[in-house]
Amino acid sequence: MAIKPKQEEIIFRSRLPDIYIPKHLPLHKYCFEDLPKFRTRACLINGGTDEIYTFEEVELVSRRVASGLNKLGIQQGETIMILLPNSPEFVFAFLGASFRGAVSTMANPFFTSTEVIKQVKASNAKLIITQACYVEKVKDYACQNSVKIICIDSAPEGCTHFSELTKADENEMPEVEISPDDVVALPYSSGTTGLPKGVMLTHKGLVTSVAQQVDGDNPNFYIHNNDVMMCVLPLFHIYSLNSILLCGLRAGTTILIMQKFDIVPFLELIQKYKVTIGAFVPPIVLAIAKSPVVDNYDLSSVKTVMSGAAPLGKELEDAVRAKFPNAKLGQGYGMTEAGPVLAMCLAFAKEPFEIKSGGCGSVVRNAEMKIVDPETGFSLPRNQPGEICIRGDQIMKGYLNDPEATERTIDKEGWLHTGDIGYIDDDDELFIVDRLKELIKYKGFQVAPAELEALLLTHPSISDAAVVPMKNEAAGEVPVAFIVKTSETNITEDEIKQFISKQVIFYKRINRVFFVDAIPKSPSGKILRKDLRARLAAGVPK
Ligand code: AMP
Repeated sequence: MAIKPKQEEIIFRSRLPDIYIPKHLPLHKYCFEDLPKFRTRACLINGGTDEIYTFEEVELVSRRVASGLNKLGIQQGETIMILLPNSPEFVFAFLGASFRGAVSTMANPFFTSTEVIKQVKASNAKLIITQACYVEKVKDYACQNSVKIICIDSAPEGCTHFSELTKADENEMPEVEISPDDVVALPYSSGTTGLPKGVMLTHKGLVTSVAQQVDGDNPNFYIHNNDVMMCVLPLFHIYSLNSILLCGLRAGTTILIMQKFDIVPFLELIQKYKVTIGAFVPPIVLAIAKSPVVDNYDLSSVKTVMSGAAPLGKELEDAVRAKFPNAKLGQGYGMTEAGPVLAMCLAFAKEPFEIKSGGCGSVVRNAEMKIVDPETGFSLPRNQPGEICIRGDQIMKGYLNDPEATERTIDKEGWLHTGDIGYIDDDDELFIVDRLKELIKYKGFQVAPAELEALLLTHPSISDAAVVPMKNEAAGEVPVAFIVKTSETNITEDEIKQFISKQVIFYKRINRVFFVDAIPKSPSGKILRKDLRARLAAGVPK
């Protein structure tokens, strides 16, 4: 039998040179490595209260939290859940867990009780740090399973106040030996298919990812210690945790924390604190582009605006450019499993590179990218769209307790398959053109169709269901359902929507329901989502 010759791989690398990355350092040590240079500089500003914490204070409080976690019995390698909106306590909890050698799993505090408990169970979290108003969601489960609850604002019955952690003696914390491959963060993501899974991000992975953005002579994401960076994106998402918090800490940048996006206070804070860097998502960019109040504020301090987590159209990109007269505006491209940053606008670097509207940057340094033909598995040359794959030390170690899903995502040669379709042009710029995977992105938040389909199938009047994305101007995409009813039922669209609304966070709510006779499936029973998406693209089905 003739042996097929192995095809030469076509691999893309950054135009910027590789750098030295101190991968042996635990994440917290790496972030605070340059602490002596900016000890007394403002590290965190709480935008809601104007409270300021210096770098020295953030490091110290985090070490105290580590000691407090130790006192409460949290062992090295154990997991804590952070169920908080953006706040200084979020930062102390995450860094404290890292100092302790523990793992943080982050969850959206607006999740329903069922959604939070699913993650607590799957991650085997031993302690939950939250706010009094969210305690009800976890109280019963925590009580029955000896999970401790820490509250940052008060101490309802059965909970411990966060001050118990911050007043612990940092000197009582035993020195922990952390290996670069130890997990430090466990965000949840559905990846290319199925239900949300725990994404194991290691110390080495996050150190590498942050270094790829801010270290070296000519970093991609050019931030330094004169900068003030707006942190309005939720820290429970890896984009904000990594590209804002961890990059900011490493670079000595002041991080301005905002709990939630609201256009007027947002603009006021930019003006008041002379914000220089904004890392946003397309819905925030849209609000800035469309809101007339923007013109009442002085935004001239802003020199870098980055958008990521979802596609940003060229028109919107151009519209918002006009609002930030002194800023370079470009995109970054991330995926939780990839650590998360795969590509970043080259023009953020010191060297003068051209900004390409609609492009989402070039592959980060110390990493390899290839574009693969999904049919043949062969890598493709420039300007030909295929599945984007990435390889490097920044990618996840794997999915928690799910070796099959890990194998489906990271192949034997170490390439992580993103499920995104894109091409690389003659200037090394990556353009994303489609999504192979089932994921739906509502304002940058993940909606896993499999999760909604599983819920829909529990309804006695539904015999089959498929959920796909529908384009939406404000949200980017919204989930819509194709439903096959059981015979003899008069169930309505509204009843189905309400059935789901009661069980999920707001952004997973079903926007439209289309009743059909059958769900198109492949011979192996896989839902032909492409067909359903094509039906939507051809006009909303009757
Ligand atoms: P997440 O894991 O929640 O960060 O979602 C990752 C997915 O978001 C990617 O695989 C892409 O489908 C999408 N995404 C992230 N950044 C961009 C971007 N700049 N343009 C288009 N899609 C993006």
